[in-house]
Amino acid sequence: MLSYEEALDHLLAAAEPVAASKPVPLSAARGRILAESLVSTVTVPPLDNSAMDGYAVRCGDVPQPGIALPVSQRIPAGSVGQALAMGTAVRIFTGAPVPTGADAVVMQEFCEHGQDGRIIVNQVPHLGQHIRRAGEDIAADAVVLPTGTRLGAAEIGLAASIGRATVPVKRRLRVALLSTGDELTEPGQPLPPGGIYNSNRHFLRALFEGYGCAVTDAGHVSDSFTETRRSLRSAAESHDLIVTSGGVSVGEEDHVKSAVEAEGALSLWKIAIKPGNPLAFGQVGKVGAGRTAAFVGLPGNPVSCFVTFLLFLRPYVLKRMGVKTTLPVARRLIVASDWSKPESRRSFLRARIAPDGRVELYPNQSSGVLTSCAWADGLVDVEAQRTFHAGEPVRYLSFADLL
Ligand code: AMP
Ligand code: MG
Repeated sequence: MLSYEEALDHLLAAAEPVAASKPVPLSAARGRILAESLVSTVTVPPLDNSAMDGYAVRCGDVPQPGIALPVSQRIPAGSVGQALAMGTAVRIFTGAPVPTGADAVVMQEFCEHGQDGRIIVNQVPHLGQHIRRAGEDIAADAVVLPTGTRLGAAEIGLAASIGRATVPVKRRLRVALLSTGDELTEPGQPLPPGGIYNSNRHFLRALFEGYGCAVTDAGHVSDSFTETRRSLRSAAESHDLIVTSGGVSVGEEDHVKSAVEAEGALSLWKIAIKPGNPLAFGQVGKVGAGRTAAFVGLPGNPVSCFVTFLLFLRPYVLKRMGVKTTLPVARRLIVASDWSKPESRRSFLRARIAPDGRVELYPNQSSGVLTSCAWADGLVDVEAQRTFHAGEPVRYLSFADLL
C-alpha cells in the first residue's frame, strides 16, 4: 500500500500544466488561473492623498491648538489643487490629492468655523497625519500577482486597480466524466428494485466546475468492452482528463479497467487511507499516436469518491490548471468527541466546527453516508492507530480551503 503522500507525489509528478492561454475581460476572470505575472505600469495611489474629510495644513502653522487659519482653497476628490499658501488651510476631502506644501490633514471633527471664514484648528497635527502616500499600495513595475494565481474577488479588484481591463489566463482544463455501475439510476427516473440514484456523477460535475474546468458529462458506460473502449477513445480526442467513478475495487471484473488498459495504460494504487482506497490512474491514447488524455478512476462509494477527489484529484487538477500552491494548510483544533477505535489506515473524518470553536465529528463515518459530507465543513486527518479524547488537538482541513 502507498501512503497518502507517496500516491499524491506520483500523481503530481504526472500533472503537466496546460500551456495555452488567452486574455479574458475582468468580468470573466473569476476562478481563472493567471498565465503570466501581472506587473503594474502605474503607482497606486498615484498621488499623496487625504485619508479623511478635513483640512490640509502645514504642521509648522499649527504649533498649538486653537490656531485660526484662512481657508485658501477647496479640493474635492478627483481634482488637483494649487500649492498650499503659507499660513492657510485647505478644505480637503477623502481621496483628494494633498497639495504641495501641506504635510498633514486635520479631521473636520477637530476643526470649527471661526470669524471671517477662518477655520480654528483644535488639534496639533503630526507630520504626515491622515496622508496616504503615493505608491503605498503598489509601486510602478511591482509584480502585483504572480503566474499561477487563482483569481478571486480581491485579485480581480487588484488587477482593476492597476488599470488592467483584461488578464491573461490559462485555458480551461477539459474534463470528461463517465459513470459506471449497473445499479445506477438517474435522478428524475423511477427507482427500479435493487437500484440506487447516481449521486457521484452530479457532485463530480459540481466539484470540477467549482475549479473552473470545462466539464463534459460523457454519460453512463454500458457493460460492453467495445462500447467502453469506444467512449474512452472518443473522450480522449477532446479532453485533458477522463474521470470515472466506481468499478475499480480490487478484484472486480469490469470493463473500464480493461478498456483503459487496452486503449492506453493503467495503474491501480492501493492507498493506506480511509475512506478512498483504491485509486486508478493512467492514460487513454498511446503517446505519440494522436491525442492522449489522463485517466483517473475514483472509488464508487460516494464518500470515498468525494474525499478521494479532494485529497488527490483537486491538487492534480489545480496543478494541471497551472496553479502554484495546491495543498491546503491544516489547522490545529480541539476536538469535541472521542475517537476510541484505532484504524489501521490514516483516516479523513467528516467534521465541522461547532459554535464554541471545537471540531465535532459526524456520528456515522461510513463511506456510503453522503449526508456526512453535506453536514461537514471539513475533514479531520487522523494518523493510523491513533485514538483521541475530547479536548485533544487534531488536524482539521477546511472545505473552505478545498472546494
Ligand atoms: P464500486 O466501487 O463500483 O464497487 O461501488 C462501491 C459502492 O458505491 C457500491 O455500493 C455502489 O453502488 C456505489 N456507487 C458506485 N457508483 C455510484 C454513483 N455514481 N452514485 C452513487 N453510488 C455509487
Ligand atoms: Mg460498481
